[in-house]
Amino acid sequence: MIGIDLSGKTALVMGVTNSYSLGWAIGEKLLQAGAKCMFSYQGERLQASLEKLVSPYEGTLTEQCDVTQEADLERLFARIKEEYGSLDYIVHAVAYAPRASMEGRFVETTQEDWNTALSVSAYSLVSVSRHAEPLLNDGASIVTLTYYASQKVVPKYNVMGVAKAALEASTRYLAYELGAKNVRVNAISAGPMRTVAAKSIPGFSGMLSKAAEMAAMKRNATAEEVGKLGLFLLSDLASGITGETTYVDAGYNIMGMNLEG
Ligand code: NAD
Repeated sequence: MIGIDLSGKTALVMGVTNSYSLGWAIGEKLLQAGAKCMFSYQGERLQASLEKLVSPYEGTLTEQCDVTQEADLERLFARIKEEYGSLDYIVHAVAYAPRASMEGRFVETTQEDWNTALSVSAYSLVSVSRHAEPLLNDGASIVTLTYYASQKVVPKYNVMGVAKAALEASTRYLAYELGAKNVRVNAISAGPMRTVAAKSIPGFSGMLSKAAEMAAMKRNATAEEVGKLGLFLLSDLASGITGETTYVDAGYNIMGMNLEG
């Protein structure tokens, strides 16, 4: 039997709001596999609930970090250096677009909303990787979370689709540059799942049922399945895989048409 034992490894998990967060789905697997984890949260309002969530896992650390703030990133990575000395895994599960940009027509996206969505949801992977680079161990691995609207039009996803396309391209460029140091970077393309971020997408419940009808497996993928893929991609089991966008969507993206739905 092949088990995944991550004892002695260290991880940073960014973007956990509550137990439904996809960052938690992966982060909890890392904790269960024995990794020491630091969870970063955007702002003070999320601190208490995050601390409660991680409390069963002794020694787990939390730190505030708004990814758009250079000073926050500097403080976060200085703390990681102080606490862990080096880093093996990063889970980047952070995204945001102003609600107005997802309610209106894409052609009406303002420059400000574009910059916000791309900065929080795509550029942050680049800046996090840059800050992390000096601390990353040989064999380290980074995963980010993306969505199919980067490849095909999903109405209302709008500028977030563009941000996810930038995120997937950034994954490939980072994978290239960090590859020589034996650091891997991959994206997980998750099917729609009920989380706080998903609730801000207009018509999300309809999306969930339509996606299940179309999917090869006739259902939606689960956060647990995202967690398992995250653990696999971060671990040494995926040692030859980098720069990829891997779908965990119960076979939605492979379908051109589904006559049974
Ligand atoms: P979530 O709301 O639980 O997590 C999103 C996180 O992003 C939150 O913790 C939020 O605080 C954080 N965040 C937003 N702006 C930030 C900033 N400036 N600095 C630091 N953190 C910030 O929702 P989720 O669905 O778990 O989202 C995690 C990732 O999964 C996102 O990239 C999302 O696009 C992606 N994803 C979600 C779905 C889905 O259907 N839920 C599908 C595919 C991909």
